[in-house]
Amino acid sequence: LRRNPGEHEFHQAVEEVLGSLGPVVKRHPHYLAERVIERLCEPERQIIFRVPWTDDAGQVQINRGFRVEYSSVLGPYKGGLRFHPSVLLGTVKFLGFEQIFKNALTGLPIGGGKGGSDFDPKGRSDAEVMRFCQSFMTELYRHLGEYTDVPAGDIGVGGREIGYLFGQYKRITNRYEAGVITGKGLAWGGSRARTEATGYGTVYFANEMARHVGRSLDGQRVVVSGSGNVAIYAIEKVTEFGGTVVAASDSSGYVVDEAGIDLDLLKDLKEVRRERISRYAEEKGGDVRFVEGGNIWDVPCEVALPCATQNELDEEAATTLVRNGTHIVAEGANMPCTPGAVRVFQEADVLFGPGKAVNAGGVATSALEMQQNASRDSWSFEHTDERLGEIMRNIHESVVTTAEDYGRPGDYVFGANAAGFTAVADAMLAMGVI
Ligand code: NDP
Repeated sequence: LRRNPGEHEFHQAVEEVLGSLGPVVKRHPHYLAERVIERLCEPERQIIFRVPWTDDAGQVQINRGFRVEYSSVLGPYKGGLRFHPSVLLGTVKFLGFEQIFKNALTGLPIGGGKGGSDFDPKGRSDAEVMRFCQSFMTELYRHLGEYTDVPAGDIGVGGREIGYLFGQYKRITNRYEAGVITGKGLAWGGSRARTEATGYGTVYFANEMARHVGRSLDGQRVVVSGSGNVAIYAIEKVTEFGGTVVAASDSSGYVVDEAGIDLDLLKDLKEVRRERISRYAEEKGGDVRFVEGGNIWDVPCEVALPCATQNELDEEAATTLVRNGTHIVAEGANMPCTPGAVRVFQEADVLFGPGKAVNAGGVATSALEMQQNASRDSWSFEHTDERLGEIMRNIHESVVTTAEDYGRPGDYVFGANAAGFTAVADAMLAMGVI
């Protein structure tokens, strides 16, 4: 706390992981002796930089850019960039810390990192977003490389932003280094199924959770928060599994559509027209409701998939969900449930899947994009999606067996933290005091 004042989200993420590792360090006391945990609380490198750019009115704007290169023991730093006005150093550190263990769980050769800016793309023209991205990359490029640090998208960073960022990297370095960034367009080195991967992977994981207790997603009533990249493709996959998603949201409020969210309309509104979610209700009409500023977790459901942002589901919302009969909660977003909410779910025996396991499909498919770039290859959608499904099943298996091995069956939080931490800690120890 003293070393990192004011970084609340970082403290929360560290406490969540460390608070659950007691049984692991008891079994492996050398982790304590070698001070692995203290080392992991300190990122390998933190970069903070000025991002000056000019808006359409000719006014100079200044934002702050971040890249936290957290751990490279398992591979190059890997993790997304977030553009949102709420981004502070502590936000990026919390996301980077989570990313280390998430990436370890995928079993793929990727370290952990995260970055972003307090830039708000909302309401900005394409030209403004481009100038911002170019300025951001003009500073960041010197830290990147396919063997060093490989960013991707996150909140506020989608295909458009990745294009501008990659274009500027290519221009400055005079290298077509496709593996330096992931989430690229298909025509210029992107991977099929990357756009869908986090949402699909979330649902593959939730489906495994259900199967593990003899249930399925078929016929389930589901609520998905958010309406961005993760939420949209989670909704798509839930529907394919026979579930009905009755509500979705953005930061202005939520909509309830008992017939099931109309995905074509939602995609058009969010991916093409960049509209607010209230337009969904306006255009759909009938019984569809828009609730301004409301709490989406008031909508009764059997399966809840928080896919918007951190700390969006608190203890009170969790209590409401439990009362309404929710039996599976799987975090598509990073740390969307507060510690109090997680406690409520665990005490009520609700199956709870933490983000670092549930949403690992995005970064896993980014690693598959890097594989395709390295071999100058391009895989089919079916093949990539199959690999994604297999990776998610393996993560589920590893989390469940680790929890059982420690005598805590069904404790996905413990299983994910213990399995991820052990992989990182063992690699660190093998490499000496680094
Ligand atoms: P997007 O920017 O595509 O969408 C984010 C969605 O969440 C939007 O609907 C947005 O609404 C809503 N949202 C964002 N901030 C807030 C807020 N403070 N309060 C309420 N709603 C909010 O981002 P992604 O879908 O990519 O990311 C969503 C989550 O998933 C994040 O936690 C991210 O870290 C995590 N994640 C993403 C991965 C990826 O591959 N994209 C991989 C793994 C995790 P509005 O438009 O109104 O802001």
